[in-house]
Amino acid sequence: MSNQFTLVYGTERVPYSVNPDPKRTTRIAIHVEPNGVVQVDAPPDFPEKAVQKAVQKRARWVVDHVAEARQRYAHVSPREYVSGEQILYLGRRYVLKVIATQSGGTSVKLKANRLEVVTRSSDPDDIRGRVRGWYRAKARDYFCRRLDELSIKLPWVEAAPPFKLQEMTRQWGSCSPSGQIILNPHLIKAPRECIEYVLVHELTHLKHHDHGAQFWTLIDRQVPGWEKPKAVLDNMVELLHNG
Ligand SMILES: [Zn+2]
Repeated sequence: MSNQFTLVYGTERVPYSVNPDPKRTTRIAIHVEPNGVVQVDAPPDFPEKAVQKAVQKRARWVVDHVAEARQRYAHVSPREYVSGEQILYLGRRYVLKVIATQSGGTSVKLKANRLEVVTRSSDPDDIRGRVRGWYRAKARDYFCRRLDELSIKLPWVEAAPPFKLQEMTRQWGSCSPSGQIILNPHLIKAPRECIEYVLVHELTHLKHHDHGAQFWTLIDRQVPGWEKPKAVLDNMVELLHNG
């Protein structure tokens, strides 16, 4: 499970995720990744509020480091896809490890905290293509399974509708008046609760095509507290689309 929060400091809003770390007993550790993503390791039994308070105490430091990292990172975009890069999957962070092989088979696999790409080519385009393919396959499987499960729960949905994967720069998903659902494969990088919000949102459009009061009444009922995953998604837009 991944816990997403937002640090508010003046006009700055910095999203961060909290990872329980059994090795820690008394204090949290804040990491700012090279691309500006903030991760907080906390003792597993630390209350949420205590973690948020500790992060808030170091707000100035976090905001400064994120700004610095983003500035530096802007120059390395587009991504190179080399070992050590961060991979986001279902709201968790993994590290890309590229393994060269001469004769063996190629593969892309999650192993512990790594995404291992075994490849014969060291060409970044080849590696990028493999990582993208892996994301799309994972997105298709996961969305398909969750749409099935959610469709059973939602009384107005008779059967899980077919959907299409399509990269979009501003939208996580859409539903046409004829009921065609389109989902952004980048969404697989977001935490599960964010994906659920998007899926229920699009499934609710099968009943109400606009964002009127009746639409939001259904959303409130099916995803109580949906404001939180929506805020996380809004904050992630830039990072999720980078790559
Ligand atoms: Zn909508």
